Amino acid sequence: MSYNIETKCVQSGYMPGNGEPRQIPIYQSTTFKYNSSDEMGRLFDLEEAGYFYTRLQNPTNDLVAARICDMEGGAAGMLTSSGQAANFFAVFNICEAGDHFISASSIYGGTYNLFGVTMKKMGIECTFVDQTLSYEELIRYFRPNTKCVFGETLTNPTVNVLDIEKFAKLAHDHGVPLIVDNTFATPVNLRPFEFGADIVTHSTTKYLDGHGSAVGGAIVDSGNFDWMAHKEKFPGLCTPDASYHGITYAEKFGKGAYITKATAQLMRDFGCIQSPQNAYYLNLGLESLAVRMKQHCSNGLKVAQYLKQHEKIAWVKYPGLPDDPEYKMAQKYMPGGTCGVLCFGVKGSREDANRFMDALKLVTIETHVADSHTCLLHPASHTHRQLSDEQLKEAGVAPDLIRFSCGLESAEDIIHDLEQALAAV
Ligand SMILES: *Cc1c(COP(=O)(O)O)cnc(C)c1O
Repeated sequence: MSYNIETKCVQSGYMPGNGEPRQIPIYQSTTFKYNSSDEMGRLFDLEEAGYFYTRLQNPTNDLVAARICDMEGGAAGMLTSSGQAANFFAVFNICEAGDHFISASSIYGGTYNLFGVTMKKMGIECTFVDQTLSYEELIRYFRPNTKCVFGETLTNPTVNVLDIEKFAKLAHDHGVPLIVDNTFATPVNLRPFEFGADIVTHSTTKYLDGHGSAVGGAIVDSGNFDWMAHKEKFPGLCTPDASYHGITYAEKFGKGAYITKATAQLMRDFGCIQSPQNAYYLNLGLESLAVRMKQHCSNGLKVAQYLKQHEKIAWVKYPGLPDDPEYKMAQKYMPGGTCGVLCFGVKGSREDANRFMDALKLVTIETHVADSHTCLLHPASHTHRQLSDEQLKEAGVAPDLIRFSCGLESAEDIIHDLEQALAAV
């Protein structure tokens, strides 16, 4: 039977046997011992599942990945050292030099740079598109060598809602998978596979850990995309891998093919593994995720409502506000709430905004977002400062945009702090 998400947060992926530890143990070991040379050999041939070196796989990580996988309703999952590594692996696992992919332009600044600058140096080209364009308008961006489509379910920092069904149809009509970054919504509020996405990524650094304690990432595959039906597009999955004695992932591993390939090739060669200790912290966060998301969302809505009626506030973006243009779409994909992040602009000059930010006492200025402590950031002067004005505009980031992340404190106290800081403007 399938449990509800609140139960999955606490129980999925690990059921201790008789006399075994109740909590997921930390396997703080680089390597694993075998009785015979033959057994070890079979692991290296991918003939048997097992652990031999933590650069590729570790039991603690796999238990936590299995939990996230079950929460998303996926077929296989893995942890990575960061959200950046997760998004890089997710795309690079199916794209190589000479390939092209399409990404929504309204995405996290780090991902924008990874796709537009660093992966370009590897010979992989990304076209950024406005995610509000129609299906017919978006079709124009596909090329014969397009290998996937990417977007964020709730964008960072602009909290726009991705129309997952539109993007899934677009991708599938062109024989490629849809990869979505579900960091802000979390599997508690949104499970993208239910709407046709094929692969989900996370920066677990945000809500999943939720306490600002461990950087990490995750990739979950739905197992639904039929690689063999589009064999010519995905030679890495559908033709023999010489580095593993000629196995063909899509044939040998079925629904586990994509994650097995990412582990066996990309983790082996790049080694962006999450430390087992961080996986343990992440898991503690997962156990309370459903409870915490309720408070993040409730605080988000109260703060958005407060700012919306304030005379010194120019605009507010929060898809959970009933008069937000994306409210209906947010209700469709995230009926239980969106997240605790919202954006707004302060009326007046850049100096006014800075005066406001500096006057806050409880709310802190941080590069972080989506954890237990309420914080804010001005992307144009912080996370997105590498981007030109043109790129900022393309990413939908207004120069006056302040990203505000509601933590788990009392909404009354957060609003009090806003009140006194706005009085200083
Ligand atoms: C933070 C973030 C990332 C990058 O994750 P790191 O863990 O910082 O590497 C990617 N996508 C989104 C939506 C994020 O918020």
